[in-house]
Amino acid sequence: MILTRLLPAPEFEDLLSTITRFASRELEPQVAEAEDHARFPRDAFRQLGKLGVLSLPHDEMYGGGELPDEVSLQVVEELAHTWATIGVGVTVHWASVHPLWRWGTDEQRQRWLPDLIRGDLLGAHCLSEPEAGSDPGAMKTTAVREKNEYVLNGVKAWITHGGEAGFYTVMARTSDEGSRGISCFLVPGDAPGLSAAPPERKMGLNGSRTSQVTFDNVRVSADHRIGDEGRGLPMALDALDSGRLCIAAVATGVAQAALEHASQYARSRVQFGQPLIDFQGVSFLLADMSSRISASRALYLDAARRKDRGAEFRRLAAEAKLIASDTAMAVTTDAVQVLGGVGCTRDYPVERLMREAKIMQISKAPTRFSVWSSDATTAINEELATSPAPETDTPAQGAEATPRSLSFTARLRRLGGRVDGLVISQG
Ligand SMILES: Cc1cc2nc3c(=O)[nH]c(=O)nc-3n(C[C@H](O)[C@H](O)[C@H](O)COP(=O)(O)OP(=O)(O)OC[C@H]3O[C@@H](n4cnc5c(N)ncnc54)[C@H](O)[C@@H]3O)c2cc1C
Repeated sequence: MILTRLLPAPEFEDLLSTITRFASRELEPQVAEAEDHARFPRDAFRQLGKLGVLSLPHDEMYGGGELPDEVSLQVVEELAHTWATIGVGVTVHWASVHPLWRWGTDEQRQRWLPDLIRGDLLGAHCLSEPEAGSDPGAMKTTAVREKNEYVLNGVKAWITHGGEAGFYTVMARTSDEGSRGISCFLVPGDAPGLSAAPPERKMGLNGSRTSQVTFDNVRVSADHRIGDEGRGLPMALDALDSGRLCIAAVATGVAQAALEHASQYARSRVQFGQPLIDFQGVSFLLADMSSRISASRALYLDAARRKDRGAEFRRLAAEAKLIASDTAMAVTTDAVQVLGGVGCTRDYPVERLMREAKIMQISKAPTRFSVWSSDATTAINEELATSPAPETDTPAQGAEATPRSLSFTARLRRLGGRVDGLVISQG
């Protein structure tokens, strides 16, 4: 994507341009075939793990990039611009790691975090159920304590990476106390009793596997519970707040791709003796599309910058998700219009982008509902203030510990080196 971005340090420009190169060389050639045949791009996620993309937000001491959201989200936008399945998948992985990273004990983080963020294992985040979508407090999946174990039973719905994931972060009921009776568990992907249904046959994002996941007497030792009993819902809602920012970034990337395809087509297609773009009606349409995308980007970045500075960002994140996903829907629809008949065919990617945009309006809570509920859930989220994140200053055993004094720039160079190394070695 050709875009002048405002980044917090010049070094981030190298990172973004490296991601762009990776996306066009490694991802772009696979997109159409994988989406047409619903082929999950597991290898692409392995590559992204090697690049450090699956660990961009996490602490450096566990092997993460420790980048601010302002930068990580622009990486997501850049990936989604090429392939929404990848943008969504990266952010689902981040969401699945979020409770452990944010509320795990030092012991839990040292034990699991380096493996989970290295990318050998892909994560899934299990909140929704067939009867509990917008209202997760209605969930029925149970986790019953038996001596030093929990036994999980229930069905989770719409699980991105269901059946592909190496670990599942699962919200389950440990008591009947409504939204205060939900706890969070880390469940290995190969746990006996865990199974995934065949993938949902979605309208779009078909490379991204979405499945129901069943827990049939799945046993995990008690140390797989993240945080105290009853704290699961605030954790899930906290991950949702960040997730809405991620969807806003993905939707912005999808819309940007549609704009670029439409502009390119309008320049080359001649009707009435001149390129379409020379008709004022078409150029005004493209100007509207471009302006709306800039507004989406500005909004999600404003929310991200507030989050990076520790300021309140939840409502703005929900608004960014609302504006960006509605923009993606409108812009991709207009892009199909600009292309005319061929826009309706699978020979051009704009109809796929339009199908993907619709899903952005629904994922992580449908758009308008999410703005309303961001206020309603703020009170629940504020409970988190009473359980501060554990200290993270103890280097992980086995993790490549990097001195705290290493500058941001140096860390970036290291990350950039990893990215370049992979791209160059793969020609
Ligand atoms: C592609 C995809 C991937 C997903 N990945 C995951 C995942 O990895 N993990 C996960 O846990 N979930 C996942 N989800 C689930 C997603 O978060 C839910 O679909 C979403 O929360 C909505 O729930 P629902 O589909 O049950 O809709 P419902 O809750 O049944 O809502 C249907 C409609 O009613 C509206 N509505 C509901 N309640 C209200 C209200 N109080 N006021 C006004 N309107 C209301 C909603 O806005 C929506 O438009 C995924 C969904 C999709 C489509």
